[in-house]
Amino acid sequence: MDLTSLDRIRAAHDRTELVLGARSAPLAGGTWLFSEPQPDLVELVDLTTLGWPPVEVDGAGLTIAATCTLRTLADLSPVRGWSSQHLVARCARSLAASEKIWDAATVGGNIALALPAGAMTSLAVALDATAVVWTSDGGERRQPVLDLVTGVRTTTLTPDEVLRAVTVQAQVLAQPAAFRRIALTRQGRSGAVVIGRRDPAGGLVVTVTASVPRPYRLAFPTPPSAADLHDAVDAVDDWYDDPHGAPDWRRAMTLRLAEQVREELA
Ligand SMILES: Cc1cc2nc3c(=O)[nH]c(=O)nc-3n(C[C@H](O)[C@H](O)[C@H](O)COP(=O)(O)OP(=O)(O)OC[C@H]3O[C@@H](n4cnc5c(N)ncnc54)[C@H](O)[C@@H]3O)c2cc1C
Repeated sequence: MDLTSLDRIRAAHDRTELVLGARSAPLAGGTWLFSEPQPDLVELVDLTTLGWPPVEVDGAGLTIAATCTLRTLADLSPVRGWSSQHLVARCARSLAASEKIWDAATVGGNIALALPAGAMTSLAVALDATAVVWTSDGGERRQPVLDLVTGVRTTTLTPDEVLRAVTVQAQVLAQPAAFRRIALTRQGRSGAVVIGRRDPAGGLVVTVTASVPRPYRLAFPTPPSAADLHDAVDAVDDWYDDPHGAPDWRRAMTLRLAEQVREELA
C-alpha cells in the first residue's frame, strides 16, 4: 500500500548513511512495512543497497546477513556434515506466503518484526544463533536471538539500532535436529513450531516458537523422559492467543509435537 506519511525513502550505501532519526525505520524486503499504514514514520532507510554478502560459510559456521532473503537462504547448497541444515528450508517454508514474498522477505526483517510465527526467529533460536547488532555509536553488540526477541512485536533493538547479521556455529549445525510444525489450515500461519537438537553428549535442546509470545528454549543435559519433557513444556504459562490458534490448542499441540521431536531424536 502507499505509505502516505512518508517524506522519503533513502538508500544507504555505507554505515555512515545508516543514521536513523526518531521517525525513521530500516527498510528491508518491505513485505510487512508496506502491508499496513505506518503513521509514525516519515522516512525509510533502505538496507538492501548496502551490498552485504547474503550468506557466508566458513569453518566457524554460517553468517547470514540481515538482508538475506528467505529464497537465498533456502537455496544454500548443502554443506557436508551440517546435519541440521534441513531446518533452513523447513523454517523458511513455515512462513506460508507466495513466491513473491519469499523473494523479498529478509531474515533480519523477520526477526526484527518479532511476530510469534517468525519463521527466521524459529530457525535462529533452534540453532542458538547470535544476533550482530550495529549500534548508533558506530559499534556493535552481540546477543542470542533467543534473548533479542522479547515478545509480540518487541525486541531489545532500540530505534537507532540495526540488525546486521545472525551467526550460527558449525558445531551446532553438525548436530541432528528434528522439526515439527502445525497450523490451523493448510496455508495458515504457524500455530506451533517445535524444534529439537541433540548435542554430542546426548543432551537435548528443544525450542518452542509460534505458540508462545516469545521463543522458549528448554535444555536437558541428558535425554529427557517423556514425563520430564512434558513437565518442562507445561511449565510455560503464556500461550499465545490470536485467530491462528487458541491458547489451549497451542499448548496441547506443543506438548504433542515436543514428544514427537523427543522420540525422533532418541
Ligand atoms: C502473505 C504474507 C504472509 C506472511 N506470513 C508471515 C509469517 O508466517 N510469519 C511472519 O513472521 N511474518 C509473516 N509475514 C510478515 C512479513 O512478510 C515477514 O515477517 C518478513 O520476513 C518481514 O521481512 P521484510 O524483510 O519484508 O521486513 P520489512 O517489512 O522490510 O521490515 C519489517 C520490520 O523490521 C524492521 N527491520 C527490517 N530489517 C531490519 C534490520 N536489519 N534491523 C532492524 N530492523 C529491521 C523494519 O523497520 C520493520 O519494522 C507475512 C507477510 C505476508 C504478506
